[in-house]
Amino acid sequence: MTTMTSMAATRYRRGELHEFQAAGQAFVYLVSAGAIFALDDGACAVLRQLGEREMSHGELVAALVEHGHARSDAEELIAELRYVRGIVSDAVTPVSAQPTSPPADFPLQALVLNITNQCNLACTYCYEFGADKIATPEGKPKYMTLETATASVDFLLAQSAGRQAVHITFFGGETLMNFKLLRSVVEYAREQAAAQGRGIGFSLTTNATLLTDEIIAFLADNEIGVTVSMDGPPDLQDLRRVDKRGRGTYRIIEPKLRKLIARHKSRAITARVTLTDGVTDVVRIYRHLKDDLGFDEVGFAPVTSNGDQAYAIADPDMDSVLDQFNQLADEWLAYALRGRRHGFSNVSETIGELIQGVNKSHPCGAGLGLLGVSPSGDLSPCHRFTDADTHTLGHVSSGVDAAKREDFLARGHVSAKYECATCWARPLCAGGCHHEAFVRYGDTGHANLHYCDWIRQWTDTCLRIYGAVAAQNPQFLEHFAERKALS
Ligand code: SF4
Ligand code: SF4
Repeated sequence: MTTMTSMAATRYRRGELHEFQAAGQAFVYLVSAGAIFALDDGACAVLRQLGEREMSHGELVAALVEHGHARSDAEELIAELRYVRGIVSDAVTPVSAQPTSPPADFPLQALVLNITNQCNLACTYCYEFGADKIATPEGKPKYMTLETATASVDFLLAQSAGRQAVHITFFGGETLMNFKLLRSVVEYAREQAAAQGRGIGFSLTTNATLLTDEIIAFLADNEIGVTVSMDGPPDLQDLRRVDKRGRGTYRIIEPKLRKLIARHKSRAITARVTLTDGVTDVVRIYRHLKDDLGFDEVGFAPVTSNGDQAYAIADPDMDSVLDQFNQLADEWLAYALRGRRHGFSNVSETIGELIQGVNKSHPCGAGLGLLGVSPSGDLSPCHRFTDADTHTLGHVSSGVDAAKREDFLARGHVSAKYECATCWARPLCAGGCHHEAFVRYGDTGHANLHYCDWIRQWTDTCLRIYGAVAAQNPQFLEHFAERKALS
């Protein structure tokens, strides 16, 4: 218990926070809590003073009173800021500023089934075949069998005990090269989940070249979420997304996409764009995919430079990408203030995380609630580690190799990444993608330091969007959270 005497002796200093302005109001992002706090100018000024020198409780109250707070308000604000670690003191029982690891028996929630490692295209940046390749598929099955697929479903349902709903994502290679299996898996998984009184959802990623009317009808009727990997209008799509003879693929997929989007209304249809050297025209790509083709959501993943990829984006072009992201983020905000949803998913995803107040121990669900399964049934942290002997985490028939999984998670924990310890963006970033870290630094547990500045600038943009919506149309955030929970 804190007594009046101990309170008087307490000396406060500023906690870890990031200040930002939105809609003419001051906010702080509280790093230890992963929370956002609106402040008046007086409180901000006092926090800044506290960043320069420690203050006693009495001095802090006096400073707040001097900046216009009533004494009782000042006491209340201090209590709140202590609670969320916006201000800290040695006298207060230390609370870990780091998120704790999830328990070792953290139940599985989703599997990414790589139902084939074969692809009908030869995109020049593909991580399965290009410079980022870590897979060693030689001598392993090219297509998943029904036996392995049903064992995977059984494994998912057994390992997800306690979860009311689970999810399967189908992935490749080109996923639709094994559509027959996909159809059987959906049927089998539905039956098994229903028998246990549980729900199961499905999604897939495809390059869209093999879509047929029959497949489109199946995806729509079974409410299967679809993400299409594509890079934009013809000149950009055809630069790197080519077939094995080097021919562009836009003219093949365009009519198929129009049919898919017209017929499939039960789930959002998403385009996922890989930004590479020469494919950085973010706004033009967004307009084409969203407005001309009619995708519900468009997300972008930039390939940043590590010096030996000809297709990586050079630093000056990354500045242009950020400018264009900011332009679309402003549009996202304008839509939100009118109660409308915008399709730029890079903002939507981060806003969803801010609403949840995430404070990540790991950058993503890989190895936690999510595992990848290769065509042979080998388990891996996620789809990007499929068929990589260096990262096998067990097999669907024998289960997870607990020691390997623990090693992967211990390395990837944000507290193991020295540079992240003092970074205000860590509750959302937590060091960045494990796969990218392995490709660049040879260690899944290395922080992705090559894009820290970029990440911090982008996170600041998303915080400002969140703050502006929270101040001007808070109901939108409530509806957004409800829709996210249902999707
Ligand atoms: S990788 Fe960089 S941006 Fe991300 S948390 Fe670590 S230091 Fe911050
Ligand atoms: S962020 Fe990287 S490690 Fe995590 S799921 Fe995505 S590809 Fe896998």
